[in-house]
Amino acid sequence: MATKILDGKWLSTQVQNEVAAQVASLMEKLGKKPGLGVILVGDNPASMAYVANKEKIAVVCGLNLFDNRLPATATQDEVAEAILDFNQNSEIDGILLQLPLPKGLDEKKLLDLIDPTKDVDGLHPLNQGLLIRGSPAPRPCTPQGALALIDLAYSDVNSDLISKNKIYDTAAIKPIDLSGKKAVVIGRSILVGKPLALLLLERNATVVMAHSKSKDLAQLASSADILVAAVGVPELIKGDYVKEGGVVIDVGINRLADGRLVGDLDFNSCKDKACAITPVPGGVGPMTVVMLIKNTVASFARRNGVK
Ligand code: NAP
Repeated sequence: MATKILDGKWLSTQVQNEVAAQVASLMEKLGKKPGLGVILVGDNPASMAYVANKEKIAVVCGLNLFDNRLPATATQDEVAEAILDFNQNSEIDGILLQLPLPKGLDEKKLLDLIDPTKDVDGLHPLNQGLLIRGSPAPRPCTPQGALALIDLAYSDVNSDLISKNKIYDTAAIKPIDLSGKKAVVIGRSILVGKPLALLLLERNATVVMAHSKSKDLAQLASSADILVAAVGVPELIKGDYVKEGGVVIDVGINRLADGRLVGDLDFNSCKDKACAITPVPGGVGPMTVVMLIKNTVASFARRNGVK
């Protein structure tokens, strides 16, 4: 069977359509729109591009945008003030503090200031604690996006339907029970690896976490039914890291010296072994963006007492 390409652009467009419909219905019920507050510090080109994309999708889905741009020279207190200002603004339901922040700013202390009910990136310690408990809370966007692509991998949606760009009800892509499946997550960051491992655990997968101190990475990875690479090393994972017929998710986004964007997977050799694989670009990236908007709309509904 041909390898299924897990097209994040396609899936994110389907989710985006559903979120837009949800916003329209909430607007009708509540007479107001969800608001996303974006704080961007400095002029890192990659961060600027990510923010532009997130804002574009937010507007397409019908959200109000509140944008606060600070110079790279902004102090810890100035960024803190911008966060507290958004916390107090009742028209803002979700706050995005775009990471990474310029050197000299304490990222964790700033994330801790975000009102947990507006923490749509799911990075506040309270929400991380709720994730460990398995209690409801905003889940981090990239892990949620990766999990949705794993559901797509095991769903009946085939590559033909995806390539014809057919409209699809994503409710038909069921959250899959991963009992008996072994997942290996390479990377243990707070942003991706750790929360994704917890989400996979919630779905009953047997989860192994690997990192830079792990030994025999290829052997470890090649035993995985689901292999996730969230490393940040261009094309580290080759075909011999992949189990025959495994599902492979590439979270990495790496810019090469020649300007090309590649993931953590050597795509072609991995594709030969996998039953389903994400491309870079166009895999996990677009899913991260749409999950941010989905979390913001969920926060809006919750804050206004709508189930
Ligand atoms: P990070 O904080 O730098 O963490 C990287 C992880 O990879 C660490 O746990 C590190 O291990 C591990 N690692 C590094 N080199 C390794 C090696 N040779 N073998 C095994 N493990 C190794 O990065 P991150 O924020 O998680 O991001 C990872 C990648 O995903 C980056 O390319 C980033 O750009 C991308 N990303 C993409 C999205 C998206 O939307 N697609 C979102 C976020 C991040 P130690 O802990 O031992 O150092």
